[in-house]
Amino acid sequence: MTGDSSGQSPKAALAIIGSGQAGGRAAEALRLGGYAGPITVIGDEPHPPYERPALSKGFLSDARVEQIAWVRPLAWYAEAGITLLHGRKAMRIDRVHGVVELDDGSRIAYRTLILTTGTRPRPLTVEGADHPLLSYLRTIEDSQRLQRRLLPGAHIVVIGAGFIGMEVAASALSRGCTVTVLELADLPMARGVPSLLGAFYADLHRQKGVALRTSTSVRRITDANGRALVHLDNGEARPADAVVIGIGVIPNSELAQTAGLEIDDGIVVDQYGSTADPRIYAAGDVSSHFNPLLGRRIRLESWQNAQNQAIAVARNILGAAKPYAEVPWFWSDQFDLNLQIAGVPQPGDELVQRGILGSGPVVFFHLRDGKLVAAIGINRAADVRFGKEIIAMGGHVSAAELADPAISLASICGALKRAAQAA
Ligand code: NAP
Repeated sequence: MTGDSSGQSPKAALAIIGSGQAGGRAAEALRLGGYAGPITVIGDEPHPPYERPALSKGFLSDARVEQIAWVRPLAWYAEAGITLLHGRKAMRIDRVHGVVELDDGSRIAYRTLILTTGTRPRPLTVEGADHPLLSYLRTIEDSQRLQRRLLPGAHIVVIGAGFIGMEVAASALSRGCTVTVLELADLPMARGVPSLLGAFYADLHRQKGVALRTSTSVRRITDANGRALVHLDNGEARPADAVVIGIGVIPNSELAQTAGLEIDDGIVVDQYGSTADPRIYAAGDVSSHFNPLLGRRIRLESWQNAQNQAIAVARNILGAAKPYAEVPWFWSDQFDLNLQIAGVPQPGDELVQRGILGSGPVVFFHLRDGKLVAAIGINRAADVRFGKEIIAMGGHVSAAELADPAISLASICGALKRAAQAA
């Protein structure tokens, strides 16, 4: 695979399958970067591309569509000569003829194709999972439906204590609901944060009044006079006015798979976002991409990756031939805490901290083989930002410097930049 853009004609037709944030950003970056050919964005949602982070946070308090962060307002696409095919599903990619077949029988020809098909919620498969009070949280409509059910006194059961579950729990509690969270693992957010922080967030939610039940599974769901009754493995049952399921996501890679592209937990692409077919790229949540900074492939479910990888792919189609190499970065807002994670922490990392967990802002630095590999902060956004820059420069910083509160992260970062420029 290469990022070589030879053969990409700037006047040829380009199609993007998937009109989420990545699809929208790719189209925008192509047009703003000078791509002169027709651009068609195909998406099954009835909206132009938008950003999803608020759907499990602020939007649950004010679910007016004006609150949505659109990538660009609808009118912009027409002005930019970009065809948005809303509410349309791509059914097949014909790589031989360079055509995408849609659910209405129409065919869109492409010279270059970008797959930004994203992910879909993993379905709960227990008996009763089709109860009408159960919902997933992915789209504007999902969030609006849930918001209408978050009434004071309503009992909300959340299944899954990942990012969606914990953010929804905090939002529902702030709206006066009674909240139960049920999680299979022994700690919340276990895939995203180290156990120390998982335990801290578990305590925090419990102190605020969330009934967080870990190491717990749901057996089945029944109806009790119009309410849902969630049965647990220990025989208990919890009545609910709404049940929110956030048990992870599945990459939408079937179209690519059927088209014969390589799949390995998402669509396999190189550091330029290219599949083995040089006319087809992938970006965003669905892409299993090679990250040169990490030295391996990774699939990221994040706002940052949806935006920046899509832009990088667009620029490579325009001829940049520049690898997409960013330090992964996530955030989560729960109650009055802003959690930020830069890099990929792993169990066994050496830990250095500034601040005390539970007593104000705190940041944890993860070192591996003597290098900074991750920074995790609570209400310490600036330190995480500097940590991210240090990681991007190779992470060469001593644990002693990181541990010394008299040495600012800005000065460590500045010294590294000067050393790099001088080299
Ligand atoms: P997630 O963060 O992967 O968490 C899912 C959680 O549900 C995991 O802890 C998982 O445990 C647990 N689980 C799985 N099956 C379960 C079951 N049957 N019963 C109870 N718990 C179960 O996924 P998510 O919270 O559903 O979020 C969906 C997507 O939205 C992700 O891509 C996420 O990154 C994104 N999102 C991100 C943010 C953010 O970055 N702030 C906010 C909202 C949403 P195991 O790991 O043991 O399977």
